[in-house]
Amino acid sequence: MPEIDYSEVMGRKVECPEQCGMCCLCQPEVLPQEVPFFRTNHPKSLIRSKSQDRHFCLTMKKGHGSCGFLNGRRCDIYPNRPTFCRQFPYHFYVSDKIHVELDLSCRGAWTGKGNDAAEEARQLAEASEKRLENALKEATSVYRDFYSICRDAGVMSDVSMIRMALSMNLDKFTDLAYLAKIMERSLEEPKMNLDGLSPDRQFDMSEMEEAARDAALSSMSSDDPMCVPVYCDPQWNWNMFMATKDRIRWSVMDDEGDLEERGSASPDEIRLKPLEEGGAEVLRDYIRTLNNRESFLGSVFYMMDQLDYEDDLANAYYGSMCVVILDLLWRASMLDHFMGTGMGADGIREAIIFYDMDRLDAPTIGAFV
Ligand code: SF4
Ligand code: SF4
Repeated sequence: MPEIDYSEVMGRKVECPEQCGMCCLCQPEVLPQEVPFFRTNHPKSLIRSKSQDRHFCLTMKKGHGSCGFLNGRRCDIYPNRPTFCRQFPYHFYVSDKIHVELDLSCRGAWTGKGNDAAEEARQLAEASEKRLENALKEATSVYRDFYSICRDAGVMSDVSMIRMALSMNLDKFTDLAYLAKIMERSLEEPKMNLDGLSPDRQFDMSEMEEAARDAALSSMSSDDPMCVPVYCDPQWNWNMFMATKDRIRWSVMDDEGDLEERGSASPDEIRLKPLEEGGAEVLRDYIRTLNNRESFLGSVFYMMDQLDYEDDLANAYYGSMCVVILDLLWRASMLDHFMGTGMGADGIREAIIFYDMDRLDAPTIGAFV
């Protein structure tokens, strides 16, 4: 078994409350070895995905609702559900190492009750040993090439130093004036660092609003419920927000895949709201999690590759973290606008529940297995 980093799930518990079913809104992939079961027993439920690799997957109600096997929020084929479903909310991120990441969009990961997360993840890893080994071989070679290109381009700062500097300044990353300064430096300096960086109290709020809104709306800009993130609220409603240039429409999807509109707003009506009591602490914990996530680093690497290795890793890393935080704060402000969730500890936690599935879906140069 390859070495696996379980630090993100150590000490955590995960339960699966029966009213949820949120992860059954993600179309489940069916692995080649699982195809015969579905061909024999449920042939009409097995289709090819629209993605490039045309893998097998299960049909969804009305083509965009929950998985067809979900009934009364319970799985009709639970003992035979695909590996994809068994693994949720754990993700094995494979770069030149393997890191287990916990999908914080799963409400069951926040209750502090249930099964030992590290133990569950260990059992899942054992069941997928071969796939993990193969993915590690492939991703290690991709990472080797990436590092070599970065070194040749002179943009490879020390990852552990970057992460350490961020973890020593965690508190400041919850301050918009500090984020504004980082974003300015990341654009102006060839190789930035956080030394001596002080908040820019004169920052242009409209620029920050725009950056936050653009980041948040990019993942909601679709009228296809399959393509937008789902926010499962404390009453277990499946909320979806679909945005056009002028309007954000808030709908709730029912168990049959029908949408009921609950409200709408112009994106301009939603303004970044200041953090309230307890909000900064929850946000800081989440930033700490992201700073340790290999998939976050992989997404920064992906961006560097897309930008032709023009940015140093430090600039790309800190700049990306700022955009992630702005995105999250804007979503928290939007949830507060529609649902009155606030910007305190509860409001920020709800925004993370809304956001983390998007975060884990961001393009990276590694792979989730
Ligand atoms: S999202 Fe989490 S709590 Fe909800 S059904 Fe899936 S595993 Fe269970
Ligand atoms: S097979 Fe079962 S667990 Fe998997 S998505 Fe469908 S209903 Fe959910």
